[in-house]
Amino acid sequence: MQFADRLNNVETSAIRELFKLLGKPGIISFAGGFPDSAMFDVEGIRAASNAALAEEPGAALQYGATEGYNPLREQLAAFMTSKGAKDVAADNLIVTTGSQQALDLLGKTLISPGDKVIVEGPTFLATIQCFRLYGAELISAPIDGNGVKTDELEKLIAEHKPKFVYLIPTFGNPSGAMLSAERRKAVLEMAVKHNTLIVEDDPYGDLYFGDAPPPSLLNLSASVPGSRELLVHCGSLSKVLSPGLRVGWMIAPAELLGKATMCKQFSDAHTSTFAQATAAQYLKAGRMPGTLANVRKVYAERAEAMGDALRKELGDAIEFVQPQGGLFVWARLTGAGGKVADGNVLAKRAIEKGVAFVPGTPFFCANPDHATFRLSFATADVDKIREGVARLGQAI
Ligand code: PMP
Repeated sequence: MQFADRLNNVETSAIRELFKLLGKPGIISFAGGFPDSAMFDVEGIRAASNAALAEEPGAALQYGATEGYNPLREQLAAFMTSKGAKDVAADNLIVTTGSQQALDLLGKTLISPGDKVIVEGPTFLATIQCFRLYGAELISAPIDGNGVKTDELEKLIAEHKPKFVYLIPTFGNPSGAMLSAERRKAVLEMAVKHNTLIVEDDPYGDLYFGDAPPPSLLNLSASVPGSRELLVHCGSLSKVLSPGLRVGWMIAPAELLGKATMCKQFSDAHTSTFAQATAAQYLKAGRMPGTLANVRKVYAERAEAMGDALRKELGDAIEFVQPQGGLFVWARLTGAGGKVADGNVLAKRAIEKGVAFVPGTPFFCANPDHATFRLSFATADVDKIREGVARLGQAI
């Protein structure tokens, strides 16, 4: 069959191949990017969907506005405001079918073939694939334990004049890194200085374990004149409430929001009204703070258990920064003592020992660091985490 040229820019990810092996009985998986389904607030979501059908059956089951269901937009604006965002009203956001759709709409509205886009090295794999599908030439900005290195980023912006810069400042996927407060300010200042659009993808910002992370770029934009007009913020209910609801949102300058809405209209007309009405009822019922407290507590325990087990079982064979939130540990094989130093090799051996994780290579759009790999601590309980890490120790 003759497919569109744009498909030449992307290939099926290596991770998919690995996922096929996960069906093996007894495998402990640190591979997925999922929240734990055992933690879904089923009762709360059932009550919310019942309320949606009882109070607004027509709206919940009918076609709706492309921008989103207004009561949900109001609730999301209030949610963002409660977290410290300034000047976010319902009109400043559109509801998207997961934040994944926001990324797709950004690709559709902003990327012409050959346009340059800067992303972190490493970054979210589906972002790489999505932007490449629109013909983007991706430029990799290096990171360290404090997120993207802003001095390097500024050089890349000056050199490449990208269409936009895509960042996951808080608990990145796969890096788990948290961009420091100083660097956040620097990012906004360079956006203004170079007139560069910045996309802040923030599905993990609410999943912090100790102190709250520094203010999001969105929150901080209020104190950097001119930066809000150059900022897109993508949010999602997936990691804290339920990815199956497919409810995300995008806050962006009005002109961009208008174009994205037009593109969304031709794509899925609108996000499921039933899911939106359910999400709106859920937020209205005031259950979110309790849900957040619960998921933070459970993931914090698991992150700590994984960090402890890694230090105990793997010692100097790896280096990693203990995550302060999110779902992931990003680790690097040191090769110490002649041990394996390639994440792809280790991933295969680990499957044989009964534990799965994702090698780091596919998360880089250029110059992959083959020694890296990503472990999710979200879906296994503490005992399984200890056992899985012990198996990883054997594999190494
Ligand atoms: N951005 C990042 C960084 C992610 O990790 C994910 C989910 N893995 C998404 C966006 C998409 O999430 P969703 O579409 O479920 O909101």
